[in-house]
Amino acid sequence: MIGIFGGTFDPIHYGHLRAALEVKEIFGLAEVRLIPSATPPHRPHPAASPLMRLRMLTLAVSNHPELVVDSRELDRAGPSYMVDTLKSLRQDFTGEPLLLFIGSDAFNQLTHWHQWQHLLTYAHIVVMTRPGFTAQALDDFFTARLASGQQELAQTVAGKLFFQAVTQLDISATAIRKMIAEQHNPGFLLPDAVITYIKQNGLYQTKRPELSLH
Ligand code: ATP
Repeated sequence: MIGIFGGTFDPIHYGHLRAALEVKEIFGLAEVRLIPSATPPHRPHPAASPLMRLRMLTLAVSNHPELVVDSRELDRAGPSYMVDTLKSLRQDFTGEPLLLFIGSDAFNQLTHWHQWQHLLTYAHIVVMTRPGFTAQALDDFFTARLASGQQELAQTVAGKLFFQAVTQLDISATAIRKMIAEQHNPGFLLPDAVITYIKQNGLYQTKRPELSLH
C-alpha cells in the first residue's frame, strides 16, 4: 500500500512530517509520497515558488527514505487537480492500494474538488482526524463507501472511505510564515535544514495579507 499526502507545503513543517510518519506506521505502508501542488485550485498562490517548496520538502525528508517527494503536480501544466494526480499514480502503481490522506477540514470541502466522486475510482480516502473527533453525518455516497475497519483497505485498491485519528501538532504553515515576517524564531516547528534554506533565500520576509487570513 502506498500513501499519498498532498499539500502546498509552504513551507513543510513537523505537523505534516509527524502525520505522514504516523500513517505510514499505522497502515504498514511501503512509502508515503509527499506531493506539492503547483497551482492550488482552492486557495491563494503560495508565497514560495514551486521549485523552492520542492527543495524544502527534499531537505526535510533527507534522512527518511519512507517519505518520498513526488513532483508530478509541478511537472504538469495547469491547475493541480487531485483526480489527475491519482489517475497518474494509478498508472504507476497498478494493483497496489493507494491511500489518499486528507485532513478533516479538507474532507468537509471535498465535494467542491474537481470530479470528486472519481477520486475513489483511483484511491481510498483516509481522513486524518484529531483524537476524539466524531464525523458529521455522512451522505449516502460516503456512507455506502465507508470501510468498517483498516483491514478492508488492503482488500481492494480503491473506493473506500476511512477515518483515522492522527496526532495533529498545533503547527501551521500560515503561522510559520507570519512568525518569519515578524522576525521571530520558528525553531522546532520545522526542520533546521528547511529554516536554513528559508534564511538563505530570504523567504517569507514580508507579510502577505491575503495569506494571513486563514
Ligand atoms: P497553510 O497554513 O498554508 O494553510 P498547512 O500548514 O495547513 O498550510 P498544507 O500544505 O495546506 O499545510 O497541508 C497539507 C496537508 O497537511 C493537509 O492534508 C493538512 O490537513 C495536513 N496538515 C497541515 N497541518 C497539519 C498538522 N499540524 N498536523 C497534521 N496534518 C496537518
